[in-house]
Amino acid sequence: MKILLTNDDGILAPGLVALHGALRAFGDVSVVAPESGQSASGHSITVAHPLIISRVSVQEKFQGWSVDGRPADCVKVACRELLDARPDMVVSGVNSGANVGVNVIYSGTVAAAVEGAFFNIPSIAFSQEMGEEVDFDQSAELAALVLRRLVELDALRPGLLLNVNFPRIRPDRRRPLGLRVVPQSTATLQDRLIRREDPRGRIYFWMDNPERPTLEDEPTDASALEAGYITVTPLMFNLTNRADIADVAGWDWGEFAGPAE
Ligand code: MN
Repeated sequence: MKILLTNDDGILAPGLVALHGALRAFGDVSVVAPESGQSASGHSITVAHPLIISRVSVQEKFQGWSVDGRPADCVKVACRELLDARPDMVVSGVNSGANVGVNVIYSGTVAAAVEGAFFNIPSIAFSQEMGEEVDFDQSAELAALVLRRLVELDALRPGLLLNVNFPRIRPDRRRPLGLRVVPQSTATLQDRLIRREDPRGRIYFWMDNPERPTLEDEPTDASALEAGYITVTPLMFNLTNRADIADVAGWDWGEFAGPAE
């Protein structure tokens, strides 16, 4: 199996290095990842600048390509140009920090997997919730266990797009309680903007970590992760609100209605 490994924390990130080690058991792993941290870059791409590519050696463990662009750029340039053959799977992560709820939309880690899905390649994003203790070797081991299961289930098919999160290590429990397949939470983030004044008297704001949102009653990625489970959420990038199609189509669009087809 040919695997493309990327992330949004940069090619030197410990989560990517650990995951590379765990993925080697599954086949040939090619690394094409951002040169620098690109967290919360969402699905942005680089169009106004060239994408500089560099061959880099990471901790003398592997060679990869660094791209001075976004996670989605990395998958594009890898699949279209850099790799000898189209990958059988795109893996993104392991991200430093959970990607659940509306953060899935902001996430560069998830965006890289979505870009893989644009190419119709089975794609998975892995993220590790932060705690007082973080062990990316454990995250990578868990990712490999999940992946092994998916291989056994013959689940790695075009169209597969999964967002996977690992719960933080707690003082009383190192390992996850189990795994839950859950929908994405849509609870509104309670953003905190710190207001300050610069030396020239100008007001500026600095985004702090949001407060924990009030979660929905039904189980979601956010609630299952908080409860200590690995969360698996199948995603789609078609943003169409199908439930509203008939309603919106039925509105009186007046002169725009045009002739009957
Ligand atoms: Mn990140």
